[in-house]
Amino acid sequence: MAEVAIIGGGITGLTAAYRLHGRGIGVTVFDGGKEAGGVVRTTFRNGFLAEHGPNSILVTSPLIPALIRDAGLDARVVSPGTSGKNRFIVRSGRPICLPLTPPQFVTTPLFSPWAKLRLIAEPFIRRAPADMEESLSGFVLRRLGREFLDYAINPFVAGVYAGDPDLLSVRHSFPKLHALEQKYGSLIGGQIRGKKERETREDVGKNEAGMVSFDAGLQVLTDTLAASLGDRVKLLTPVGRVSRAGGGWGVDADGTPGDTVFDAVLFAGSAHSLARMGSPGEGPSPEPLGEIHYPPVSSLALGFRRGDIAHPLDGFGILIPEVEPFAILGVLFSSSLFPGRAPADHVTLTCFLGGTRRPETATGETGELVETAMRDLRRLVGLTGEPVFVHRSFYEKAIPQYNVGYGKYLRIMDEIEGANPGYFLAGNFRNGISLGNSIVAGDEVATRIAAWLRKGG
Ligand SMILES: Cc1cc2nc3c(=O)[nH]c(=O)nc-3n(C[C@H](O)[C@H](O)[C@H](O)COP(=O)(O)OP(=O)(O)OC[C@H]3O[C@@H](n4cnc5c(N)ncnc54)[C@H](O)[C@@H]3O)c2cc1C
Repeated sequence: MAEVAIIGGGITGLTAAYRLHGRGIGVTVFDGGKEAGGVVRTTFRNGFLAEHGPNSILVTSPLIPALIRDAGLDARVVSPGTSGKNRFIVRSGRPICLPLTPPQFVTTPLFSPWAKLRLIAEPFIRRAPADMEESLSGFVLRRLGREFLDYAINPFVAGVYAGDPDLLSVRHSFPKLHALEQKYGSLIGGQIRGKKERETREDVGKNEAGMVSFDAGLQVLTDTLAASLGDRVKLLTPVGRVSRAGGGWGVDADGTPGDTVFDAVLFAGSAHSLARMGSPGEGPSPEPLGEIHYPPVSSLALGFRRGDIAHPLDGFGILIPEVEPFAILGVLFSSSLFPGRAPADHVTLTCFLGGTRRPETATGETGELVETAMRDLRRLVGLTGEPVFVHRSFYEKAIPQYNVGYGKYLRIMDEIEGANPGYFLAGNFRNGISLGNSIVAGDEVATRIAAWLRKGG
């Protein structure tokens, strides 16, 4: 039986391992952490559920429900109710519901009449040259204007990437947006025509995609995948090096060269870890990948008595534009979004701090962070009481930023793979940063590895 080493037991590595194992291929997953799942982790205490990292999966590809179904988890999926679609954005210190329909757009106070009129010009703005590297802000300013950058894109990017639109590359961080302009010459026109094309492909656009989690949190998925692999998942086993050995690949795990010769290796860790491991043999050095910026993020799950919050919490949460005077990046209404996140008559709110915008706010003592978040929550949701539950998680290197110039790093990854047949790379540093991207990446790389092994390596 062919044997594949998988370095990294986050959602990418676990999905790949699960899919390879399902095809009768031997897998060994090495992870340096004490639990499988990477940044996916859930804590349940005193009736409150805290997600340490991600909170939900956006179902943007049929490969995502297929994995959930095959893992036997259909009955454990939870989805937001209709009010979960409401997203609030702060303007002049007040959360305003993001308009979801054309009539709501016309009347919303989120954008000025001038900003709304400016949209009429969008289809007539010329597309940028195909090879131009442009920041997300440059792109949005050019096509949609300042207010859309400040009050739609900036808060959205803080919520997704914990990133800065002045630095992120539109081509690499929002490839679909970039492609809309390139293909249709207009975001508005492309949105309408693209919807029809996606329907034929069975793909789902972000605006229409459903959002899911599990009854006991996202860790249900990673735990289930890891459990199905049993002792093929080796925890507390960091890999220091991968090199050619005996006609295959040797893996130096936890400081000791292993005896097993693997037919293929999948690296599904992080860019900085890949840079540290050095070259697997041929091709360029992965060292420059250590330059990829991952800002720090703290996630603060806070439980309150329902009566201590004036806001109806009828939505997904509140995103905060950088131009507004708040310290947090945003707050999720976790217990409105999914059931089972707080005891009766209580709510859970999850605040995010740090990111590229304000890295220093991620790193303080938990007490300071709670104070900072409470100050903002008093103004945003009319909080009056004290938290009855606090859970803080901290990621020193949270999410890779696909900044302008990211193509250089992607080329190095392509060249490393090309020069080392049997050595594969996948994960949020290469294939997109969402959980959905990572599941698709894990599934697709498993297909590539299986095809390569079938050809005889
Ligand atoms: C705070 C936060 C909130 C987020 N919110 C959302 C959200 O709501 N929705 C969403 O879609 N996405 C969200 N994301 C993004 C998403 O969760 C991640 O991009 C995705 O989970 C990455 O999965 P991965 O398997 O590629 O990487 P990781 O989860 O980082 O896993 C990589 C694993 O590799 C291991 N590893 C690395 N190097 C080695 C080595 N040399 N040897 C052994 N093991 C190694 C690490 O220990 C780790 O377990 C969020 C991310 C963060 C940090």
